[in-house]
Amino acid sequence: MRLDKLLANTGYGSRKDVKQLIKKKLVKVNDEIAKKADVNINPEEDIIICNGEKVNYKEYVYFMLNKPPGYLSATEDTVQKTVLDLLDQKDKVLHPFPVGRLDKDTEGLLLLTNDGQLAHDLLSPKKHIQKKYYAKIDGMVTNSDIDSFKKGVDIGGYITKPSELAILSSDNVSEIELTITEGKFHQVKRMFEAVGKKVTYLKRLSMGSLILDPDLSIGKYRQITPDELSLLK
Ligand code: URA
Repeated sequence: MRLDKLLANTGYGSRKDVKQLIKKKLVKVNDEIAKKADVNINPEEDIIICNGEKVNYKEYVYFMLNKPPGYLSATEDTVQKTVLDLLDQKDKVLHPFPVGRLDKDTEGLLLLTNDGQLAHDLLSPKKHIQKKYYAKIDGMVTNSDIDSFKKGVDIGGYITKPSELAILSSDNVSEIELTITEGKFHQVKRMFEAVGKKVTYLKRLSMGSLILDPDLSIGKYRQITPDELSLLK
């Protein structure tokens, strides 16, 4: 990456401003005064000092993945495939990690980033970030389930917070959408268990303002756009 771009990205002003800093000999690269703005920098290795202070540069990445079943929401596992196995090597080296977990058999929206602060904020129970799921349920989902979920159900010593259940179709197999604001272990499956039903298919559709791109086929990922990112922050 060019030195002027790196400094501008890190908050030292516009490209024009940082060129001035370089001209005024205020920028050092590995202990030598930088002479040119377009010198190539390796952010992982080179030490940049600007105005006497060390520049902490980290390239943040944010990916939206349409998770397929069969992959763990983890960064490594000795035996099983993880969602990181779905990323290109050039993206993997930036050390993204999944924000929260989807079960191995769950599909859909998974955000991967190396921005620990954003991940922390999105997962914080205090923020009540809404997560919307589509599911197929063995059995007939009824209005009484809507009421139960609105009130909260006991998933084994814990009463869930109010959640919104919408029935898309109701028969021997029902299709539903459920919006929850928590992320307890196996929460959706355990909520249906609490009303005597079984989830046979589960897919996350959205997380906060981030909606799974319908053009993203299963197993594929893309960078989230600056607009999507600003809505998440
Ligand atoms: N709830 C579940 O039961 N599983 C998931 O993967 C996500 C939410």
